[in-house]
Amino acid sequence: MSGQRTTATDPYFPANGDARYRAHRYELALEYRPGPNRLAGTARISAIAGRAPLTDFDLNLAEFKIGRVLVNGRAPQYTHRGGRLRIRPAKPLPAGAAFTVEVHWSGNPRPVRSPWGGIGWEELTDGALVASQPVGAPSWYPCNDRPADKASYQISVNTPSAYTVVAGGRLLTRTTRASTTTWVYEQPAPTSSYLVGLSIGMYQTVLLGDPGLGGVPLSAHVPPHLLARFSRDFARQPAMMRLFEELFGPYPFGEYAVVVADEDLDVPVEAQGLSLFGANHVDGVRGSERLVAHELAHQWFGNSVTIADWRHIWLNEGFAKYAEWLWSERSGGRTAHGHAAAAHRLLATQPQDLRLVDPGRKLMFDDRLYQRGALAVHAIRCALGDGAFFRMLRDWASVHRNGVVTTVGFTTHAARYAAEPLDDLYSAWLYEPALPPMPPAPPLPPSVPAMPGHPPAMGGSPGGRSNLA
Ligand SMILES: [Zn+2]
Repeated sequence: MSGQRTTATDPYFPANGDARYRAHRYELALEYRPGPNRLAGTARISAIAGRAPLTDFDLNLAEFKIGRVLVNGRAPQYTHRGGRLRIRPAKPLPAGAAFTVEVHWSGNPRPVRSPWGGIGWEELTDGALVASQPVGAPSWYPCNDRPADKASYQISVNTPSAYTVVAGGRLLTRTTRASTTTWVYEQPAPTSSYLVGLSIGMYQTVLLGDPGLGGVPLSAHVPPHLLARFSRDFARQPAMMRLFEELFGPYPFGEYAVVVADEDLDVPVEAQGLSLFGANHVDGVRGSERLVAHELAHQWFGNSVTIADWRHIWLNEGFAKYAEWLWSERSGGRTAHGHAAAAHRLLATQPQDLRLVDPGRKLMFDDRLYQRGALAVHAIRCALGDGAFFRMLRDWASVHRNGVVTTVGFTTHAARYAAEPLDDLYSAWLYEPALPPMPPAPPLPPSVPAMPGHPPAMGGSPGGRSNLA
């Protein structure tokens, strides 16, 4: 929130984000031409200064040509270097003051280089895709790029009419003039910059489930030649949504969409109300179904309940991984305890130099963090028993809906549901690198009904690489 930048910026990415103010709404108007990969944009950002007056403030934006910058309608001084647009308003902004920033920019967007390869705006063979986790958002728009700074978004994209534009949120309007179409999406839920998703491509749009039955609207945007495989691979997503609503509480956003890009992606990636998959994730035999569950679960854990900074990443990935196991358990596949035992055997053969809490930037997407994170969640479930564990989980998602959390916030919360103190469990699973013994199986409720009317899960491989998913 507000405060001194030195204490509140993300320790893993000190060049990103400015904690001296917060942005609460972005209105982005973009023009994009896929052939030349040309982007021109206008951003109107509504923000509030923190506890101290602002003589200057920063937005993150990659190397674009800057056309015009305005603060409260007046031209400020600014510099644009090293991915940082530093703006000095004509008059300092008083503490707590609301202000607006307008930025015009243009150029050829390209991914931000990172230890995990290029992230952010990616030009595809025919279209584009945004996958920003963790610091790719400045590859396409100016933002206060820190996960804790959540804002509502209106995104308007003008592009040749042959393309479909997909962004997270509700499609407000689609207007065709001459050969181009403008798509306007609204995401009212507070959204972190890394979770602002976008894809432009030759997609066919389909609805999943039975929209007549109510529930969360589910849509998919898929290259026509992949539709047959897709319809088998995602057939159980509506059942997954029902299960997760039962286990985690109401779906936190107004709708959920998936995009399948017409090329391979290393891993799928979550965005707000939206997940992006590669063509390689549809195979017609549900080979990636665990990832369908993983990305959907991020809507609760990561997107709605968001980490204050990247040191707490296990609260995203451990929970999404555990949701894979819960889906398996409840859809006729291996139990969560069986998955946990397999993960435990796998981790026992690997170096034990990773702490879940504050793993360091280098290990934040290490597969061990995912496995160990899910195991830690499982250890808590074993200690609490199913009744208290799922109450704890639903309350976590509901109390912190649209909020920002830390590991200590979570451990304090979960301890309230335990009969015995959890300090030793926390210390062993979260704060020490050595792998604790496998927890004993949780007492089973009287009967765990399988999802009716579905064949057994095909099951993904639990040891699969899931970095950045
Ligand atoms: Zn993930």
